[in-house]
Amino acid sequence: MSDLFSTILSSPVAKRAGVPQPTRLRRFEPGMPLCEGPVLVAGGGRFADGVAFWLGSRGVATVRTPSDASDKLGAVVLDLSAAVDPAELDQLRLLGAPAVKALKRNGRVVVIGTDPATLSDVAEVATQRALEGAVRSIGKELRAGATANLVLAQGNASDGVRSAVEFFLSGRSAYVDGQIVRVDESTSGEVDAVRPLTGKVAVVTGAARGIGADIARVLSRDGATVVAVDVPAAGDALAVVANEVKGTALQLDVTAEDAGRRIVEHATTRHGHLDIVVHNAGITRDRLFVNLDEDRWRSVIDVNLRSILRMNEAILGEGGLGDGGRMVCVASIAGIAGNRGQVNYGASKAGVIGLVTALSRQVADRGITVNAVAPGFIETEMTARIPFATREIGRRMKLAAAGRPAQGRRRDRRVVRPARHGCRHGAGRAGLRPEPAR
Ligand code: NAD
Repeated sequence: MSDLFSTILSSPVAKRAGVPQPTRLRRFEPGMPLCEGPVLVAGGGRFADGVAFWLGSRGVATVRTPSDASDKLGAVVLDLSAAVDPAELDQLRLLGAPAVKALKRNGRVVVIGTDPATLSDVAEVATQRALEGAVRSIGKELRAGATANLVLAQGNASDGVRSAVEFFLSGRSAYVDGQIVRVDESTSGEVDAVRPLTGKVAVVTGAARGIGADIARVLSRDGATVVAVDVPAAGDALAVVANEVKGTALQLDVTAEDAGRRIVEHATTRHGHLDIVVHNAGITRDRLFVNLDEDRWRSVIDVNLRSILRMNEAILGEGGLGDGGRMVCVASIAGIAGNRGQVNYGASKAGVIGLVTALSRQVADRGITVNAVAPGFIETEMTARIPFATREIGRRMKLAAAGRPAQGRRRDRRVVRPARHGCRHGAGRAGLRPEPAR
């Protein structure tokens, strides 16, 4: 898909004219360093020492003040988890502002706080909740591929904090910005930093193309055995993806009565178990509300929402997703902000978010996490159906919102790591910022 604006922007003429050039984002590749440049670890919280020690063990240089660094900083990790009074928020400015000035391209700001939900003192809750507003706002100010994210710890979740910090520092989180991740004490032990999903079996629905195919590729890259699911009509493309990721293909319509049972059967008989399910299959059937016919309404609700509920009966039943499993549902920014012409789609995706919120509580005691990802505008065959002018506005708004022009055909992926409980919406730099939606 050509992007005329990006082509003009990166032309020699534009460069000579001094038009700001896009930053090439640091994307994860096996073998790349966790962070490019020293990491400032500061703040008086309960995790800073452990994070600094762990970074050292990973060969990453750490400093305690910006002036200690001889080079520009690759990242700054600020631990404000012990702040109990709003006056202490000033640490964020005192420690963070000079560090942000000294950040390299594609730098990272990670703030660690305490989950306000675990606190009762009013001033302390207010202080910790303030971090959310601050981090989302810092994220909006950062340029040149840098991101800012917040890790909220429940109790002494040191392994969970370390795992989240690792994700945010790495190239895996290139598109994750302004996000809040909660971690609790149930995460423990080290994971393989390069192939963290080794030994896991993952099912991805709607995997024949678009976002689903890319999810399958990433899960496979990270070590999982992938079962790629899509409708029989997409069988050829599905086989190509399944072969590419060295997984298996399962042709089925997710709305079929027995879809969940067939998924479990396929995963367990072919691969021995089922550890990860990504409910990604989805459709749009856009019309203004007043023109929405029954077929457009029903098909979107059925494919995007009801199928997940139905499949989950088998997937979460006996012999399905094992304890400690992971489920991710692909929602949409349209399910948060709504979108013109998409009452059916917006309803279905908001429903997915509700489903995730309720279900995550129900299965928490089995150590299963259920999360939602709410992407903004990602160019796929789904968005190719949008009229040209609307699509161009979508692209431009996305770029403006991201504060950096795209490199060619960029696919924004706003993915948030599984958190222990509840729903995390990876919804762009400001979390809930309305963007042109699909
Ligand atoms: P896409 O149309 O390119 O791919 C969707 C895939 O799902 C296709 O391979 C299709 O065959 C499959 N599918 C559709 N109905 C199915 C069914 N009944 N059973 C099995 N498979 C079925 O779309 P995409 O852009 O890759 O979207 C993937 C997901 O991301 C969807 O849930 C979509 O709503 C969501 N999403 C997309 C965007 C975007 O901008 N592209 C934004 C937000 C959310």
